[in-house]
Amino acid sequence: MFSYNNEIVDAVFSVSSINKCMKNIYEYIELPKSDRQAHLNLSEPCIERGAGSYYFKGLLAHHLDTTVPAGHKIHLCHACNNGACGNPNHMYWGTAQENRQDQVTNGGKTIWERTVEKYGEEEARLMNARNGNKNGSGNKGKSKSEAQKQKIAESVRLKWQEKRLDTNS
Ligand SMILES: [Zn+2]
Repeated sequence: MFSYNNEIVDAVFSVSSINKCMKNIYEYIELPKSDRQAHLNLSEPCIERGAGSYYFKGLLAHHLDTTVPAGHKIHLCHACNNGACGNPNHMYWGTAQENRQDQVTNGGKTIWERTVEKYGEEEARLMNARNGNKNGSGNKGKSKSEAQKQKIAESVRLKWQEKRLDTNS
């Protein structure tokens, strides 16, 4: 558990401390998509780390020797279409448009869309907000047990059923 936190600190620290020798992400993003995807290796399995996108960004920047983008113009794209995956060989830096295209051409839905479909947008937002707190004192990035998850999902489902009945009647 401690090594997990140290890993984050290491990644973020190395990214911010040696920014000078790294490729500027805003120049890097001008490279053709195929160059930015050259490191991808989807024959490797996904590694779900139960971490937030801030951690993944640090990780990818470290892996590709780029700086970390700020704001929303440059996206961390998952070539494996698994938003929970932290395998650097499954992630690449892309534009917002590329991120959208990936999600469409992958045929599947994004984790976000699946969550909204399952729990409704309001609850999905709450879940996202909670996930964003994982690096804090909370559960230290450990994911909930299956039983816990199902319990939560069940209560959320009931809540939304009630809500739907309310609005439909
Ligand atoms: Zn993956």
